[in-house]
Formats: sequence, C-alpha cells, structure tokens
Amino acid sequence: MSTTYEIIRRKRDGETLSKEEIDSFVRQFTSGKIPDYQMSSLLMSIFFRGMDDEEILHLTRAMMETGVIVDLSDIPGCKADKHSTGGVGDKISLLLAPLAASCGIKVPMISGRGLGHTGGTVDKLESIPGFRTKLTILEYKRILKKTGLVMSAQSDHLVPADRKLYALRDVTATIESVPLIASSIMSKKLSEGIDALVLDVKVGGGAFMKNIGDARELAKKMVRVGELYGKKVSAYLTDMSQPLGREVGNWNEVLEAIKILRAESDVEDVIELTTKLTAEMISLCTAENYFAAEKRIAKAIKSGAGYEKFCEMVRAQGGDVKVVENPSKHKTARFVRQVKSSKDGYVSGINAFKIGTTAVMLGAGRLKVGDRVDPVAGISILKKIGEKVSRGDVIAIIHANDDASSKLAIEEIKSAYQILDLAPKKSELILERIG
Ligand code: URA
Repeated sequence: MSTTYEIIRRKRDGETLSKEEIDSFVRQFTSGKIPDYQMSSLLMSIFFRGMDDEEILHLTRAMMETGVIVDLSDIPGCKADKHSTGGVGDKISLLLAPLAASCGIKVPMISGRGLGHTGGTVDKLESIPGFRTKLTILEYKRILKKTGLVMSAQSDHLVPADRKLYALRDVTATIESVPLIASSIMSKKLSEGIDALVLDVKVGGGAFMKNIGDARELAKKMVRVGELYGKKVSAYLTDMSQPLGREVGNWNEVLEAIKILRAESDVEDVIELTTKLTAEMISLCTAENYFAAEKRIAKAIKSGAGYEKFCEMVRAQGGDVKVVENPSKHKTARFVRQVKSSKDGYVSGINAFKIGTTAVMLGAGRLKVGDRVDPVAGISILKKIGEKVSRGDVIAIIHANDDASSKLAIEEIKSAYQILDLAPKKSELILERIG
C-alpha cells in the first residue's frame, strides 16, 4: 500500500489512484489520522489533474462508507429527490418536494445550508418559526412515511467525510472541481436511500460552473455515478446568469414559493423550472409520460394540493403553520431600501454572483462557518432581464436589519444591473437534458 506522501505525489504527477489508495486516504482523513495539510495537497492535485470515472466512483463510495446509508426499503413507493448544484434565488426544492409528494412520489430530501454566495434550502426552511431540519434517522423515516415528504439537514452521521472535506475545500480554493463536486453531491444523495434523482446543474455567473462545457461534464459524471449505483438519474443544465425568481434571501424566498403553491403568483422562471424538474422526477419514477406529469403538476398548483402538502410537512417538522397561512404574522426587516434605475432602457443583465454576495453581506448567508443567518434579510428583484425601465424606477428592494449594510447594498445592487438601450435577446432557462 502506498504511503500518504506517495498517494499525493502520484496524483500530483497525474497518475490514477487505486480504490485502496482512495479508501485509505478518505478513511484516515475522516478519523483525523491524516492532517488537513496533506488532504489540502491531495485536493489541489485533484483540482489540477482531475480524476477518471473509476476514481470518482471510488471516491464517492469511500465518502459514503464513512457514514450511515439510510435504508428506506420498508417504505413503499418510489423514493426520489432533486439536487441543485447551487444558485442565487433557487427556491425550487420548496415547491418541487410538496408538488411531487402530492402526485404520489415519496420525497426524502436532505439539503444543505447556504454556501459562499449561494443560498441553501435548510436556511430557507428554518426561516419558518419552529421548523426543525435537524432530524434523527427515525424521525426522518417516520415523517416520510406519514406525509410522503421530509426536508431535512444533513445529520452528523451522513457522509461525515463530506462535511470535513467541504470545509477544507472552502478555504483552499478547491470547490470548483468536477470530480470533487460530483463525489460530494452523489455521496450525500446516494446515502439518502433514494431510487431516483434529478440533478439541476446550474451554469453561469451565479453558479459554481461558469461555462456550459464544465457543467455538461459535471452532469455526465454525476449521472454515470448514479447509474453505476443502479439508480435512475437524469440532469438538466439550467441558466444561472441572473437570480432565479424575484426574491433572494430566506423568508422572502419561502414566501415567494408559498404564493406560487397557492396559485397567487405567476413568477415565470420559477414555475417553468419547478414544473420541468418535478415532471422529470415523476416520469423517472413511474410509467407516466412527461407531458401527462406536467399537466398533473399544473393541477396540483391550481387545486392547492401542493400547498396542502407543504403545510402538512411544516406541521410535521414543528413549524408554525399559522405563519405560512398568514405570512403577515412573520417578522419583517427593520430597514427597507429602494434601489432605483439611473437611466432609461432595458435590463440586459443582472450579475447573479454580485446579488448573491450582497445578500450574504445583508445577513442572508454566512461569511464563515457557524455565522447566524438573518431570516428576513434579502433582496427583492423587481426588474428582471428583458424588462423595460425608466430612470427613477425601483428595480430592487433591500430588506435588512443592519442599517450600514443596507446602505452599502444600494450601490452594489445598482452595479449588478446592466441597463442598455436595446432589449436583449430572450435567453433560455433550460439549456440541456442529460441522462
Ligand atoms: N454542493 C455540494 O454539495 N458539494 C459541492 O462540492 C458543491 C456544491
């Protein structure tokens, strides 16, 4: 067996690591026997040298084996999940999970917290007073059995290697690596006990994958790993060059999702992507054809069935459903500031990365691990790409509890908007399907 040094050297020189080498490195790092500086070195070597499909599979398996693998075989029906590689304003899970459950799919969803400039489903859900995302495996299974869906945070027992690795990648500039992202995501998803998975691989300035070639490669690798595990997996490449929907933050994104589920709002991009990914999930799980599934989802919105499921899940996880039913009961931000356009024209671009980092500065995300997230901090995006604006029109609204950062955010958001004389060409939200 190679030494720790030898494994790092081999990857540094572009060689292929064996299953045993990867297993031993991951196991020893997780148990504290390999120090962070040696793992950082291996991560940087992987970042530059990459990994072949076999190595990615071994890395995924080695990471999974550091924790528990949930067994859901005693729960009847197809268990399916969706995972997004991370974006700005991405509240799709909040809609997709209850809609799919209302169509008979079992949705055991384990999500993450905000990461860098991107938001996280767990932080969004925790903005509902009382909502518990920290569940034991027993509770996770009981809620899934009872309501058909459960939305939980990653427990300490699920892929502990990923938590340690991720924290290290975050501070060693090794996040944006295809094999590292693929194994991080797939190890968590394959440990959940699912039968099927839909991946939403984000592309553009607000995503970790900035260009379509890298996103396509990531999607293919993840689909391949899932298939090798005998799961039904497909992926969509979707645009993340502007924020998704019209709200960025935590409670304001939950509210946006609630309004759509109640058929009170028609935020086009959120509805289009939710419908696409939920229909894909249903058709992976059942014999139902994709278009029939799309119709069922539209019906579940119109009839309120998806909204009822959402409320059922909030109740089951200890959340205050009265606040969901009557959002005016939720606390609001102390400072609300308008951002106005300084010229006439059309919105031609909104820098999603800048909007994401500004939301973090306002308190909607974390600057370092362990920071508290402010549930009501955020940004309302009043004008999106393609919309006409006149000088003085309000293009965005800032919600914050900190006066100084709310003032700083005005210029940040203004500079994230590109306003030109001519209307831009309409760009596609859903770019490609893989799988
Ligand atoms: N999301 C994850 O869970 N892991 C990554 O590496 C990147 C995004």
